[in-house]
Amino acid sequence: MNIQGSVAVITGGGKGIGEAVAKHLVRQGAKVAIVDMGQADIDRVVADIQAMGGQAIGIQANVTSEADTARFIQATIAAFGQLNIAVACAGIIRDGTMLSLDKETGKVSKKLTMDKWQSVIDVDLTGTFLTLRDAAEAMVNGGWEGILIPISSVNKIGQIGQLNYSSTKSAVALMPKIIVGEFLMRGIRGIRCVGIAPGYTATPMLTGMNQEALKAILKDVHLDRLIEPQEIADLIGHCVTNQALNATTLEITGGLCYPGGIAK
Ligand code: NAP
Repeated sequence: MNIQGSVAVITGGGKGIGEAVAKHLVRQGAKVAIVDMGQADIDRVVADIQAMGGQAIGIQANVTSEADTARFIQATIAAFGQLNIAVACAGIIRDGTMLSLDKETGKVSKKLTMDKWQSVIDVDLTGTFLTLRDAAEAMVNGGWEGILIPISSVNKIGQIGQLNYSSTKSAVALMPKIIVGEFLMRGIRGIRCVGIAPGYTATPMLTGMNQEALKAILKDVHLDRLIEPQEIADLIGHCVTNQALNATTLEITGGLCYPGGIAK
């Protein structure tokens, strides 16, 4: 599959990994739709891409909304005439242990709130599902070759303090296998699905993490630094062009040797 001449929709394209993926695909000749919550982020990325000589539109939307998802898929097709690549980068973290204890009494002083639980499930799991579902619908009905790329995480194996996030990322890691199996069953041959499971990557999301925990985690990374968003974008570009990659989730972690083991 060629990136040149293709059309991509990138949720969470206003920053971090999504921004790097959008710019990388544009440099390879794709047209892109930047979907995000923040209008200022969208405007900045679209302006950057136009300054590079590329073509981009920006759509402010919430991936947890079925109506918004239908709207940004339709807007992409209205602008560029087709859809070939959907990268579901929109994501959030709301960390916390399930229970916290009062040091003196040993009794439970705090529980992971429903707000922290549900907001992560809504964005990271339901939002990914809606994006992939509606992108696939458009690709099938349009007769376009395509690829769906959900973003999991190395924390799919179970990160302490991230019961909500790890639950979504382990579910997302399974999506390519199930979706491609269903495509095979339904005779849908032209659309692949490849998940990406990054390790700790230098994006604004990490500023929301416990910085002490992050420092401890980096001791377990063979690469001895955070991954750059561009390194994730390079892998995603490769996934688009290599048709042998399908129905799987690829880890890119810099050699994180003991994921899930931060109990400090
Ligand atoms: P980021 O820098 O925080 O960017 C995520 C973008 O998604 C933000 O612009 C955010 O907008 C947007 N977003 C959040 N909720 C949304 C919603 N409901 N609808 C539309 N857009 C929404 O994060 P990132 O690090 O690039 O992460 C991208 C993906 O990679 C996420 O799925 C993340 O879980 C995954 N990942 C990241 C890392 C890492 O170390 N960075 C590691 C593994 C996996 P606002 O900021 O305006 O809310």
